[in-house]
Amino acid sequence: TAQLIDGTTAARELRTEVADGVRAFVADGGRPSGLATVLVGDDAASQVYVRSKQRACVEAGMVDHHRHLPGDVTQEQAGAVLDELAADPEVSGVLPQLPLPAHLDADALLARIPALKDVDGLTTESAGLLAQGRAGRQPCTPAGVVHLLDRTGVQLRGAEAVVVGRSVLVGRPMAQLLLQRDATVTLCHSRTRDLEEVCRRADVLVVAAGIPGLVGADAVKPGAVVVDVGIHRVEGGLTGDVDGQTAASVAGWLTPVPGGVGPMTIAVLLANTLQAARLQRAAHAG
Ligand code: NAD
Repeated sequence: TAQLIDGTTAARELRTEVADGVRAFVADGGRPSGLATVLVGDDAASQVYVRSKQRACVEAGMVDHHRHLPGDVTQEQAGAVLDELAADPEVSGVLPQLPLPAHLDADALLARIPALKDVDGLTTESAGLLAQGRAGRQPCTPAGVVHLLDRTGVQLRGAEAVVVGRSVLVGRPMAQLLLQRDATVTLCHSRTRDLEEVCRRADVLVVAAGIPGLVGADAVKPGAVVVDVGIHRVEGGLTGDVDGQTAASVAGWLTPVPGGVGPMTIAVLLANTLQAARLQRAAHAG
């Protein structure tokens, strides 16, 4: 049965590393890094995510610049808040919690975040840099998945990697990151034919489809590393996109839900924020 990839421990280690980095940065005369999460409206799940990001930010020794905007905020008002955060030297990273309410033009709002403060790689510029294999802020969830894959010691170079889901936030950047690590990448989506058969080719299978239990044992190659990005609230807790119980009998490695990808996302957000603070300092010094 599969070995579990312990995202809780991995995240704790990365968060400690970031907290040490923040202390060293401040001791070296840097401004305390600051993270501005922006929540629009009162979606319950988004509130939970944002609160845990705020808490983690403070625990890492960073300053919490959270903004909560009413659900009926206008495009102009939301834009003005983002412009203000973009210009504020105390703010190292700006992170609007997605999805934004439908009446807002999310793309136009995200475009107001300067690339150096784009700590979740949400902007077109960050996505472009990633697609060109150049340095930039990487989306937190896929970057966290790469951390977890590295913990297994499984070689990514030359491996068959299959990603299920092509969202801008998870699937696409996930494929790019695996490509950067020299995996042979297949990107699946809702129109993919014979999903199970494609998945069974994978040495590394990352599932981010947003459908509970979509991938089961029949879609897993024996010994494969299976990463479950999905998060679904069910009675009695959380479940993922992978049917963990059956997949574990075939996979070599598996991320649990909860305790896998979720905690890593926040740890990488903190790492990206510290990195952004360092780059902003270097940009001002230069
Ligand atoms: P999304 O809905 O934006 O995208 C889902 C993708 O899956 C789409 O590209 C779609 O084409 C594909 N898909 C849908 N049905 C499919 C099917 N039957 N077969 C193959 N592909 C299919 O979702 P998202 O934002 O990418 O998130 C995916 C999941 O990951 C959700 O459960 C979300 O809650 C979770 N998530 C977790 C974290 C974390 O930190 N762990 C972060 C972001 C998202």
